[in-house]
Amino acid sequence: MSASPPRLVRASLEMMRPYRRQLVLALIVLVGALSCTLAGPALVSYAINHGLVRHHDYRVIEVAGIAYLAVALAFFGFTRTQTRLLSGVGELILNDLRKRVFAHLLSQPLAFFDSESSAQLLSRMTADIDVLESLVQSGIGSFVTSVGLFVTSLAVLLVMSPLLFGVTCCCLVPVVIAAARYRITSSRAYTSVRHRIGDTLSTLDEGLAGVRVVQAFRQERRLADQFAERNDAQRDADLHTVALGCRFFPKVEGTGVVTTAVLLLVGGSFIHLGLASVGTVAAFALYMANLFNSIQSLSQLFDLLQSSGAALGTVFSLLAVDPTMVDPADPEPLPRRGTVELRDVSFAYPSTPAGAAAMASGAGPVGDLHERPPVLSGVDLQIPPGEHLVLVGPTGAGKSTLAKLIGRLYDPAAGSVRFGGVDLRRARLAELRRRVVVVPQEGFLFRGSVLDNVLVGRPDASAEEVLEALERLGVARHLTSLPEGLDTDVGERGARLSAGERQLVSLARAALADPAVLVLDEATSSLDPGTEAVVERAVASLSRGRTTVTVAHRLSTAERADRVGVVRDGKLVEIGSHRSLVAAGGAYAELFRAWSAGVGTAAPGMTA
Ligand code: ADP
Repeated sequence: MSASPPRLVRASLEMMRPYRRQLVLALIVLVGALSCTLAGPALVSYAINHGLVRHHDYRVIEVAGIAYLAVALAFFGFTRTQTRLLSGVGELILNDLRKRVFAHLLSQPLAFFDSESSAQLLSRMTADIDVLESLVQSGIGSFVTSVGLFVTSLAVLLVMSPLLFGVTCCCLVPVVIAAARYRITSSRAYTSVRHRIGDTLSTLDEGLAGVRVVQAFRQERRLADQFAERNDAQRDADLHTVALGCRFFPKVEGTGVVTTAVLLLVGGSFIHLGLASVGTVAAFALYMANLFNSIQSLSQLFDLLQSSGAALGTVFSLLAVDPTMVDPADPEPLPRRGTVELRDVSFAYPSTPAGAAAMASGAGPVGDLHERPPVLSGVDLQIPPGEHLVLVGPTGAGKSTLAKLIGRLYDPAAGSVRFGGVDLRRARLAELRRRVVVVPQEGFLFRGSVLDNVLVGRPDASAEEVLEALERLGVARHLTSLPEGLDTDVGERGARLSAGERQLVSLARAALADPAVLVLDEATSSLDPGTEAVVERAVASLSRGRTTVTVAHRLSTAERADRVGVVRDGKLVEIGSHRSLVAAGGAYAELFRAWSAGVGTAAPGMTA
């Protein structure tokens, strides 16, 4: 993923637009600072020529000295203001950028997240924006000043004495060559450092995230060794950049000294020949010092600028991925109730990250259907309002995928999914999410209280409405008897609740949302019989009177459904009531026999 330079510039300008007044002010202040820098040597030259060489007038020297002090103070004021302005605007822009990236990520379709790991996305949000942060905090002011100083110093030197300018340019040649080389080698070295940091961080991340497995299987030593190895590689890469800097920076400094010496020699002879005044040569030497200072600080900033450019590129390329699941230009309203219908639906997950990216950017997964066997093919299904349909079949058959298509978490590659006759792609997303709610296997709980988590279903619901919903589900007693009732803190991802309580909260959330269609992916984690019964009753109450599609991992769920659909190899091979399917003696009857023989344990191939 990378953004082209013109696109990068356009995107950066776009982000700066709201702050253009402050930026123009910073530019004016920059001009002030540069004028001060240029005025210093001019004052020295004036003092030498008019105060010493020609008239021996000490008043001129005094005035020039005071003026020099005033200019130095003004310079201090200007640079301070400029740094404050630029860093302030930079922070505001970064703040906007972080919010935009996060909002953008949340609006991406699921296919996007199939190709991007959350760790990578997190690193993009933090590491890349951190690089920009250091540019903003320490680099941007001195970069702008150095560029300004470099250009103006060159211009002034040329105007003052084209001859001496020529001499300076000749001396600059080795620095330019060394800088060009340093640019290439340091860029490679810093890229290598970033990769090594990525490796070290991924070991750290894996070790910490999987600490339970690490300890259970005594993997501490292996991971510590891996970390040490990668950490050493990072140290070597860092040392290499230091070595490169040690070779380059003294070259710039040395060339500066040599150039000054050459200039004094050549300038001295020019003075003898009457081609230049003493003041001019002195001022020239000072301007040249400015020039070398600017080259030095630009070289030091080079890596920061380079990594900032790369960071901006990746962040903007992330922002450039258009969410495909957006409202159509002329949406069709969804009826309150309606038949869920799948017409000749086929679907495949992209086989490569590139395929997923293409899918996320609107190209659709069709191309990948040739590469990868479709997960679903030619599925036709009608679910009348209020029916409870249970999907069963072997693991990997495509049941969950079918459920996700009904909730439009993905779009089909071919065919259509409809509600009340309206293709889901033609409906407004907000309306669709109100009509169809998907409750995933392990409902995700946010940090906060039980009440906060239930309110996710309908944020404007009152406490009474929440309690009413809990009563209807028959879970009020369970949740209110938690240590602090509904105000109990659920911890990170609900870690402070039991698996059963987490399920109850996510069912309560769906109940509060009160959708016309409910898609449930039955949790596979086994619960104690008491809690299991409460969850089952809650599901039964939740599905009463509304279309419900349950991906079942236990056939007892299928027994209670209106109809059962058997999915095998991406096809809906059987559909009918539990009784009729058992009587028909087909695929379902076989699954059911196997499951019954296991006396309540999942049938072979039934668990996810
Ligand atoms: P089931 O629910 O019947 O167990 P799924 O619908 O979850 O099956 O999966 C069907 C097939 O799709 C499986 O082969 C699975 O590996 C694959 N699959 C599921 N989710 C993804 C995904 N996000 N990316 C790629 N392949 C997936």
